[in-house]
Amino acid sequence: MERHDYAEALESTSIVSIEKSYGLYIDGEFIEPNSKTYFETINPANEQTLAQIAEANSHDVDIAVQAAKRAFGTWSTLPGSERAKYIFRIARILQERAREFAVLETLDNGKPIRETRDFDIPVSVAHFFYHAGWADKLQYAGLGSNPQPLGVVGQIIPWNFPMMMLAWKIAPALACGNTVVLKPAETTPLTALLFADVLDQAGLPPGVVNIVTGAGSTGAALVEHPDIAKIAFTGSTNVGKNIMKTIAGSSKRLTLELGGKGANIIFEDAAIEEAIEGIINGIYFNQGHVCCAGSRLLVQESILPEVVTRLQQRMSTLRIGNPLDKNTDVGAINSKAQLSRIQELVKSGVSEGSEMWSCESELPKQGYWFAPTFFTNVTDAHRIVREEIFGPVLAIQTFRTPQEAVEKANNTPYGLSAGVWTEKASKIHYMASHLKAGVVWANTFNKFDPASPFGGYRESGFGREGGRIGLGAYLKEVTS
Ligand code: NDP
Repeated sequence: MERHDYAEALESTSIVSIEKSYGLYIDGEFIEPNSKTYFETINPANEQTLAQIAEANSHDVDIAVQAAKRAFGTWSTLPGSERAKYIFRIARILQERAREFAVLETLDNGKPIRETRDFDIPVSVAHFFYHAGWADKLQYAGLGSNPQPLGVVGQIIPWNFPMMMLAWKIAPALACGNTVVLKPAETTPLTALLFADVLDQAGLPPGVVNIVTGAGSTGAALVEHPDIAKIAFTGSTNVGKNIMKTIAGSSKRLTLELGGKGANIIFEDAAIEEAIEGIINGIYFNQGHVCCAGSRLLVQESILPEVVTRLQQRMSTLRIGNPLDKNTDVGAINSKAQLSRIQELVKSGVSEGSEMWSCESELPKQGYWFAPTFFTNVTDAHRIVREEIFGPVLAIQTFRTPQEAVEKANNTPYGLSAGVWTEKASKIHYMASHLKAGVVWANTFNKFDPASPFGGYRESGFGREGGRIGLGAYLKEVTS
């Protein structure tokens, strides 16, 4: 296998118009921040500034929470069938504007257009459609006969799937009758701000969804606000722990979707070609900026040489470069800080004695790039096996028996995802029941569906997003 030269097939950016600067979206309109402070968001593929973004301080967050509180009075008492109409409308508008969102997401995040077009935006749309369907059926969700919304929910999301994380958070919150203050990540605010336009188009009442941009301190102000009923957070385990400490002793509800160090386990009886695709998809999808990435590969010892050779061959065909090129498989690393973190961990892999192999590829001169890489000769003690790298870097280990595979897979403080590749259903059942992971994929990886709950064990967090169970995170049972 070799990498073929294709002519560039650039997606046009003319469909997107980016403002010079953005205020905060509060109570149905964009307003200037009290902080009077702005920060820039850049395109990580070329380091060019895209726009100036308002940084909300605690006063701004308070204004947003008060708007959401006022809106809660009406929104929460609308019949579910009425709320559903708004959410269906949001889903349809988002679907109609999918290309615009895909291009903007690629510009702000650095991920390939192939992924934003075929994955991020369609999955986001699916979440709105799915949850719109629940809005008038909550009493049949098995969560009590009279489930009620919680109030104003604060939602803090990361930069790896900006639009998809927004959808995972906002769609169930609205379906259940809550109102929202959302804080997008500092490096990827643009699609959330464009989403405000969708909300206006859908005629959503002012204040039902408010978007406050900013950095960690904006998120912290949201967490600390006394009128917030629930925090839904996706991000790093450290920040998740801080949030837990902050709200301990309050009546605030909390769901945390944190880091991961997922094991992708290949048995000798697996369909190897498919497993290789599963490895690629597991770790190099979205530059490995995936909490449930299959970042630890466990290969049955007898097939290690074959898997490594085939993996190298397949990786050699990956195309790294301009995220707007429809041929691109691997885009830019989201930020300079994330690139430094990846480089630092990779360095530790080398200094701790592992063997490193990287795709040979000429990386663009501008922007933040890291070639897909794997390590062999690693042990459970190595940092690259223990710590979440959140980049296109795979650590390969071996096992001999299913029991050993389980032991190694579970030897992590995390517990978000795992993958099992085998022809034997009995082995799948054995592994799935012994792996400590919120999701176990069998003969596939990184598959998502709004009907399927997602979430972690241990340091990967708690609470589930999606499916009937996910609704429980936005409802309380009221016994009359
Ligand atoms: P963070 O946890 O810092 O960021 C997630 C979100 O929380 C962002 O919106 C962030 O704002 C906000 N935030 C930061 N500090 C606070 C705070 N004290 N209180 C409330 N909200 C806060 O993740 P990073 O983006 O810094 O990434 C660091 C590492 O986290 C990665 O290398 C990766 O290992 C992991 N990670 C895991 C993710 C997952 O899906 N499980 C997603 C992203 C990262 P801001 O963007 O302004 O910092």
